[in-house]
Amino acid sequence: MSADGGSGARAGGLAPYAARDSTSRGRRHAEPPPRYRSEYQRDRDRIVHSGAFRRLEYKTQVFVNHEGDMFRTRLTHSVEVAQIARSAARALGLNEDLTEAIALAHDLGHTPFGHAGQDALNRCMKDYGGFEHNLQSLRVVDELEERYAEFDGLNLTYETREGILKHCSLRNAQELGELGDRFLRKRQPGLEAQLANLADEVAYNNHDVDDGLRAGLITVEQLRGIGLFEEQYRLVTEDHPNLSRRRLLHEVVRRMINSQVTDLIETSRAAIEAAGVGGIEDVRAASAPLIGFSTAMSVRNRELKRFLHEHLYRHYRVRRMTAKADRIVGGLFEAFMGDTHLLPQDYQDKILRMAGEGRDVAARARVVADYVAGMTDRYAIDEYEKLFNPSRLT
Ligand code: MG
Repeated sequence: MSADGGSGARAGGLAPYAARDSTSRGRRHAEPPPRYRSEYQRDRDRIVHSGAFRRLEYKTQVFVNHEGDMFRTRLTHSVEVAQIARSAARALGLNEDLTEAIALAHDLGHTPFGHAGQDALNRCMKDYGGFEHNLQSLRVVDELEERYAEFDGLNLTYETREGILKHCSLRNAQELGELGDRFLRKRQPGLEAQLANLADEVAYNNHDVDDGLRAGLITVEQLRGIGLFEEQYRLVTEDHPNLSRRRLLHEVVRRMINSQVTDLIETSRAAIEAAGVGGIEDVRAASAPLIGFSTAMSVRNRELKRFLHEHLYRHYRVRRMTAKADRIVGGLFEAFMGDTHLLPQDYQDKILRMAGEGRDVAARARVVADYVAGMTDRYAIDEYEKLFNPSRLT
């Protein structure tokens, strides 16, 4: 291994506070180091080959998958997050491979139907320890993927797992050992984790504007009341007065992303310098995250978020869909909890193993939640039909 931890020539560009193989806290199950990749490249590659990653293609956050082929899915969202996060990581001298791994894995634990599905499952699980999508992403990579002979899950590095677990309740943190420790001691995660977290925000705020406009749920006139949008809208129409609507909107959204990412890089660079951090342990011990937006940009981001909450996420067409999602997820959970013989055989076997003849209700509920959370939108709809539609015979 080289001094920089085996990531080859690119490692030379790493800042002292970047994550590197040589300072990694390692994997839960010891493995020989990779020969031609860095540890974080290996994490990224394992994520890309996982079943949960492929299922992201048919999961959505705001729009249901079959509403149209143009809308973001969780898969394209994750790729956009990785793009934004990697650009900023390179500019800041952070570990691009780790940043990418976290970005690609951050939504692996999401239920079908986005937040509506997660809220419904959390309600179903309230007497059995609850359901947090963030914690579920960690569960997917730590336990649920069945791909390796020697261990459950993907056996990712501590740093990738730390990045996946953006937040969790204090009660859950107590059960998570070293990974939960930072929530209890109010310590920070590595800069790559901080960055992937904010890249997520930049990605969804902007693509929800784009998707919302395309779906006709929000209008340009409404958005012109929002600082981030209006500023770029003016610049684009000044530069190009005769642009078609489609190009105009894409140009505005593109510039919105660019202005946020530029602000993020410059603000974070200044904060890192001011804090005088010498290495990753200084980053973790800092009193606040060092990756962030300027105050002015944070205000504008909040304004955009508020707008999206009011006009997009609460739009009756979105609500109609989330109400349906709620019924589907709740219905599936109750049917399987009521009669575990309705589950596929491998889940029944798992319940027998974990819940001892199914007597431990919380363990049984967790297996059912894992099954429902792993479903794609269309699989959940189909399963619901099979269980509840009397005219559906298979
Ligand atoms: Mg996300």
